[in-house]
Amino acid sequence: MEQTFAIAIHGGAGTILRSTMTPGLQLQYEKGLIEAIDAGYNILSQGGSSLDAVEAAIVVLEDCPLYNAGRGAVFNHAGQHEMDASVMNGLTLEAGAVAGVSNIVNPIKLAKSIMCNSPHVLMCGKGAEDFAKTQNIAFADDAYFFTQQRYDQWQEALKTDSVQLDHTERKFGTVGAVALDKQGNIAAGTSTGGMTNKQFGRVGDSPVIGAGTYANNATCGVSCTGHGELFIRAVVAYDVSCLMEYKGLSLEEACNLVVYEKLVKIQGEGGLIAIDKNGNIAMPFNSEGMYRAYKKSNGASAVSIYREA
Ligand code: ASP
Repeated sequence: MEQTFAIAIHGGAGTILRSTMTPGLQLQYEKGLIEAIDAGYNILSQGGSSLDAVEAAIVVLEDCPLYNAGRGAVFNHAGQHEMDASVMNGLTLEAGAVAGVSNIVNPIKLAKSIMCNSPHVLMCGKGAEDFAKTQNIAFADDAYFFTQQRYDQWQEALKTDSVQLDHTERKFGTVGAVALDKQGNIAAGTSTGGMTNKQFGRVGDSPVIGAGTYANNATCGVSCTGHGELFIRAVVAYDVSCLMEYKGLSLEEACNLVVYEKLVKIQGEGGLIAIDKNGNIAMPFNSEGMYRAYKKSNGASAVSIYREA
């Protein structure tokens, strides 16, 4: 029997309500998700690696201005775009991550380069950007990262200085992917602009291996989205893996315990996507909505945004 392969992606969780979405905008969000899932799935179906599939899916979402990663990254308090990303190989437990970088078109590519071509796991700021220059990583000027919608969100946030406290109003838009390939290998990746109006230098969970991203062939691959400070404190992605490894929980049980109980207890709003070695997929979130999609080699697929699928 052929090994099952599958991919799942997210485009962020948060206060995403049907009532505030126009049909046209919804179509655009869905188009981005479909393009991303197809980019990853095509690699998997041709026998490519889960790592390449995760990267390809995330690149599509980073290039789409609607999502808070790459081109559509949010503004920080200083009016800049500081991006974080990470990737992990579940076969080797190798990982690469980048934090607080600017002007990098696809931070996920830089994270992968750090994993594959440097002795390090996590690089930040100017040092990471200098390393990117040695790796043929594309740069773009600030204008490339400007979107009116993100600018307006930042202006609104500035008025109330709302970034840290009012998380009921927050919309997250981080992107991520998890995949299982025909060789049975799992990978996970996450990329983000962080949170609107965040302080200069603030780093969230997305580039923190074990918090925003984790992959291990023995258990699962996980990519998170939500209030990063809480996700770091709850070590969310690794906790899902640990619950499977040490407690023998299923993927679904582990994800549900972390997202609906442990995170809720500390008011950690958000969600995650996860995949196990059998191609089971879980996509729980405790916020109003989460942009998400999956596609499996058995023909199952879905694209969803709101709480009701
Ligand atoms: N987790 C991200 C952060 O805190 C934000 C998000 O998921 O949208 O940086």
